[in-house]
Amino acid sequence: MTFTTAPWELHRASATTVLSQIDPSATPGWDAGKNAAREFMAERGALLSELQERLYAQGRAGGQDSVLLVVQGMDTAGKGGICRHVLGMVDPQGVALRSFGVPTPEEKRHHYLWRIRKALPEPGRIGVFDRSHYEDVLVVRVDELVPPTVWDKRYEEINRFEEKVTESGTTIVKVMLHLSKQEQGLRLMERLDRSDKHWKFNPNDVDSRQKWEAYQEAYQDVVQLTSTDVAPWYVVPADHKWYARLVVTELLVRALVNKGLTWPTPQWHVDVQRRRLLETMAPDTAGQAAENGPTAVAKTARHTSEVADMVRDFVNDYERVNPAPVTAGQGSETLGAKGEGGPPEDTKKSKKKKGKKKDKKKNKKKSE
Ligand code: AMP
Ligand code: MG
Repeated sequence: MTFTTAPWELHRASATTVLSQIDPSATPGWDAGKNAAREFMAERGALLSELQERLYAQGRAGGQDSVLLVVQGMDTAGKGGICRHVLGMVDPQGVALRSFGVPTPEEKRHHYLWRIRKALPEPGRIGVFDRSHYEDVLVVRVDELVPPTVWDKRYEEINRFEEKVTESGTTIVKVMLHLSKQEQGLRLMERLDRSDKHWKFNPNDVDSRQKWEAYQEAYQDVVQLTSTDVAPWYVVPADHKWYARLVVTELLVRALVNKGLTWPTPQWHVDVQRRRLLETMAPDTAGQAAENGPTAVAKTARHTSEVADMVRDFVNDYERVNPAPVTAGQGSETLGAKGEGGPPEDTKKSKKKKGKKKDKKKNKKKSE
């Protein structure tokens, strides 16, 4: 059970993306259903967690790399669920989550990117934006909080901003959770029906819902105008929460695999430090440590090879459906993945699908 087509190929937005032509209830590329998705996600979660630890370790050692996941979508689209279920699979220490609501009085006194810049992930982190600077061309546009001449300039400004952010070592993954109006209606009603979900309901959600079409137009412009090579948008069908989470997991794993992460080399000598440490130990503790050594070494070797297998599985899963979708990058020997060569991004078009269908077939099961 894997994707029949790489999710980054299926969902990558471009200047010609038409939202109304994308079915929010479809589960393209995944025919195995909800339960299989759960299982698969747990496996990938283990890999995500391992790669995140490497990213974090690199950050501690002075590496500049980070990842920024930008999550946008209408109310109830599942933004919070992505944070809980996808990022919940990795060490919270390595994740920096930021939610952007109505700007505070202080934020209002600054340029709209001011609060965004301050929230960018530090090296080694996976940053997550639950809403983002895109609100400044979404709610701000729909509610006419600034005149069109002002918001109209922002698309290009955002592109330039994101290019700079990328140049500094941050891989940006932008996800628009694409929800149907019907499904949103049902989810909002459930919040009203369940007293334990009332805290999630905001009467403003209904106001926004009444402006559904205007929001779709604003989202359409966002994905058409700001899906760049350095920071592409992925429009992810979100009526099935499990599907959206699965896709986002794959997008994140890919972003990390493409970094070719290895463990940083220490700035000190293991042998020198071992000797220094031994000098501080009582003889019987030193003897015990010497006995433990081989077990620790063997455990590391086993673990390293398990991770290498996971990376290889990931790369192979997509090589089967697309000859050059991901590369393990340099340092692949540490992770045990093959794959060097090809560009990390979507620049290489698949040559053949090796018998796999690249259909955007709708999964008829509504198992959400
Ligand atoms: P929630 O994410 O449901 O907690 O809601 C946050 C609210 O803040 C949403 O209604 C957003 O539209 C609103 N919001 C976020 N950013 C901005 C912004 N730059 N200007 C105005 N409203 C915003
Ligand atoms: Mg809300």
